Amino acid sequence: MPARAAGPCRIAIGDLEATFLPDGYICATPESSYPGSSEPLWRANPHLLDEDGRFVMSLGAILVRSGERRVLLDLGWGPTESPIVDPATGATDGRIVGGALLRHLEACGVRPEDIDTVLFSHLHRDHTGWLDCSGEPCFPNAGHLVAEAEWTYWTTTGDLGVGPAPTRDQLAALAARVAFVADGDTPVPGVDVLATPGHTPGHCSFVLSSGTERVVVLGDAVHCPLELLEGELAFVADVDPDLAQRTKQQIEAELLRPGTLAAGPHFADLVFGRLLPGDGRRSWHFSEAQRLGLPGPPPRGEPA
Ligand SMILES: [Zn+2]
Repeated sequence: MPARAAGPCRIAIGDLEATFLPDGYICATPESSYPGSSEPLWRANPHLLDEDGRFVMSLGAILVRSGERRVLLDLGWGPTESPIVDPATGATDGRIVGGALLRHLEACGVRPEDIDTVLFSHLHRDHTGWLDCSGEPCFPNAGHLVAEAEWTYWTTTGDLGVGPAPTRDQLAALAARVAFVADGDTPVPGVDVLATPGHTPGHCSFVLSSGTERVVVLGDAVHCPLELLEGELAFVADVDPDLAQRTKQQIEAELLRPGTLAAGPHFADLVFGRLLPGDGRRSWHFSEAQRLGLPGPPPRGEPA
């Protein structure tokens, strides 16, 4: 089966609930997504590619319900699309398409003004898309939280930062409302901040827990399950590739703890799953998440 961007799906974590809300998708050649990766590796993993041989990433946000709290983890790409250009050749290499997030939120019975907290894993452009809607905040009642190191990085490097930078308008919108979180903080009951730097300097993952159940929301510390199985795979947009690899080793240890699920918002097909130690070789298993009968991501090749 060719890869597809994930549709909406939901899991319960004790008293918490996490729902993946698609915004769109990213597709690009695997070699540009993972420079130096080998063609045989991708031939052995065709389930990560679409029928044109492009590496597929889901794109969206995770809605967390914790008691009366309504929280969004990241804000997608927003209502626009853009080609992905290979910097070496200038050729169009793929595309990134957003636009579906708000209608998936609405289908869950949640209005934008119901969101009380937005937590950013980091500030790459594909995570800040719905910061503002026509100059107004998309989530007017929400505190917007990010690690201070992340804020400092993008407000000092701007467009010169590694990977897709947030726009000046987005940074200005965020400046009016940003507050900082740090490793170990619990900004929402059942939602802990786990610093996972490397992809960006202030990158954070989030641990959702209730009772003995827990889900590590990876953010962009891991972009596809194969990164958890092939230690040398390095994603193109890592600011500090060496630190990203060391962080990934810590995450793998975290995911191998009993009772731990992972959520990879960029994972194709289904974002929730489990890393198992196996018999000398780790394996990734998709979880029994509830696939929701909501409108899915836009069909391949069509704008959202
Ligand atoms: Zn991303």
